[in-house]
Amino acid sequence: MDRPASLPVPRPAVAALPRYVPGARGSAGGPPPVKLSSNESPYPPLPSVAQAVAAAGEVAHRYPDMFAVELHERIGSFLGLSAESVAVGGGSVAALHHVLQAYAAAGDEVIFAWRSFEAYPILTQVAGATAVPVPLLADGRHDLDAMAAAITDATTVILLCSPNNPTGPALRSTEVEDFLAKVPSRVLVVLDEAYVEFVRDPEVIDGRAALDRHPNLLIARTFSKAYGLAGLRVGYVAGDPELIAPVRSCVTPFSVSAPAQTAAIVSLEARDELLERVESVVTERVRVADALAGLGWNVPDAQGNFVWLPAGERTAEIAAALADAERPVLVRPFAGEGIRVTIGAPEENDALLAALREWA
Ligand SMILES: *Cc1c(COP(=O)(O)O)cnc(C)c1O
Repeated sequence: MDRPASLPVPRPAVAALPRYVPGARGSAGGPPPVKLSSNESPYPPLPSVAQAVAAAGEVAHRYPDMFAVELHERIGSFLGLSAESVAVGGGSVAALHHVLQAYAAAGDEVIFAWRSFEAYPILTQVAGATAVPVPLLADGRHDLDAMAAAITDATTVILLCSPNNPTGPALRSTEVEDFLAKVPSRVLVVLDEAYVEFVRDPEVIDGRAALDRHPNLLIARTFSKAYGLAGLRVGYVAGDPELIAPVRSCVTPFSVSAPAQTAAIVSLEARDELLERVESVVTERVRVADALAGLGWNVPDAQGNFVWLPAGERTAEIAAALADAERPVLVRPFAGEGIRVTIGAPEENDALLAALREWA
């Protein structure tokens, strides 16, 4: 078919976005790679969760509960909040997208640390707003003083990531309280706690408790990481119902499927069992971080289910060497900066350490 000279034109902010590039998958025919590139749980769903998902599949010809009433109630009671204080989405990425749709328009500025979660600049741009990335400190922590200094009359949203993906450190209670004291109350602050269950830093900010002190604060959480439901897509934001209502208005109807709703509910019920798995990941994280330090790596404080290798200019070379190792290991390289490696099962982590020794 001949293409006409003029075709529909996307919004400039969208045209400027990078085209989607599929992630690494390992080479066909080679040994199966160890996938430590997406911060997934190494554990499959609990049998109770798998059963609930299968049962939901039996009635997949029906729409899910459009308002996910029970899920909102369960998350609310888990947090000690009302159901109206919660907005669920297809993953917390979607929930964050809806927050930005609700609070950031053309001309508005959205501040976040950088490097941080890759979705932040994209979601900001799709909303039509202007991204204001503020460089991290050398140890991978947020530079909250610089972030406070970046606030202007145009700032409408600030995204905080604790622990920071991909570098690892969690935000501390005192630094966040000092920061929030400098943020005008008309600015929305979102604390993204995607990895909150993995944090062992005793000084970490307790996002849920902070909601009671700061009416302009929201927290974002997900079932993808500690709860191991990345493939089902369910997460949420929570805070004052007045702040949440506009977010709910932006949610794509029916975007959290019935299997995802039911899996999230069953997983909240099985939380203690899931937290035992989280504990194993934390134990492995400590072991891997120590081993990496032994290999000479200066790993920032790792509080999520991942570690950061500050590989700098050697990032691409090392990531390629890991993918080519005797037992290939897929990681998440950020060219010129470093490599994020997910903590997997013990033998997967051993494969990573072996591949790194092989390279060195
Ligand atoms: C993984 C992650 C999320 C959530 O992912 P979903 O699968 O969409 O729930 C949110 N924020 C950060 C920082 C993450 O790393």
